[in-house]
Amino acid sequence: MIGDRRWDGVYSFEDSPFIMEILTELRDRKTGSIPFRKGLVKLGRYMGYELTKLMDVERVTVETPLETTEGVLVKDRRNVVIITVLRAAIPLMEGLIKVFEHARVGIISASRGKAPKFEIEMNYIKIPRITSQDTVIVADPMIATGSTLVRVLRELSKYGKPKRLIVLGVLAAPEGIERLKREFPELNVIVAKLDRGLNDHGYILPGLGDAGDRAFGAPIKAPVPPETRRV
Ligand code: URA
Repeated sequence: MIGDRRWDGVYSFEDSPFIMEILTELRDRKTGSIPFRKGLVKLGRYMGYELTKLMDVERVTVETPLETTEGVLVKDRRNVVIITVLRAAIPLMEGLIKVFEHARVGIISASRGKAPKFEIEMNYIKIPRITSQDTVIVADPMIATGSTLVRVLRELSKYGKPKRLIVLGVLAAPEGIERLKREFPELNVIVAKLDRGLNDHGYILPGLGDAGDRAFGAPIKAPVPPETRRV
């Protein structure tokens, strides 16, 4: 995990060949939904392990069957809240929860409308209690313009001030990081890689496309009328 020179508290994994290999598979247009979802689960897990490096640890003693020795307790791992931003973060959360098995989990449905307005819709918000001991990890695979996440973070601030606030994603555009850090300077951002920028539709370049569609299939525009539905 390496810190970015442009911003404090922004980390990526370009130093990790394994994480870069998973990212390469996710980027590949030929990768279907099953390996795509599995890749996101793996990233959640491995990036979660790495994220514990930002946590406070306690030195403890432990009795082996032979003698007493020194050990480590990552106490902060017991005080984690994972916020899943629907829908593409679901597999990331599945991986994260393997590392943070005690985590409380919040769900926010937030989606960005089409260019040029990129209006944000937030219509399902279930957030657990957040305390001053907690590390809050907001899982959202694609940090593009940052506007959805700004709305999510503003909403979260109503539920309490955590010890540390982290956004964990797969890819980020510099524009998105800039926007987030302007409003939340203390925020940590952890992504597999920082990409080049955004296209006119707000997609990350080179990116991996629409993460939700790739993981779960593209939704249809309107529900199928009842008379054509199979029973
Ligand atoms: N959301 C996505 O799923 N992909 C992008 O490139 C940007 C936002």
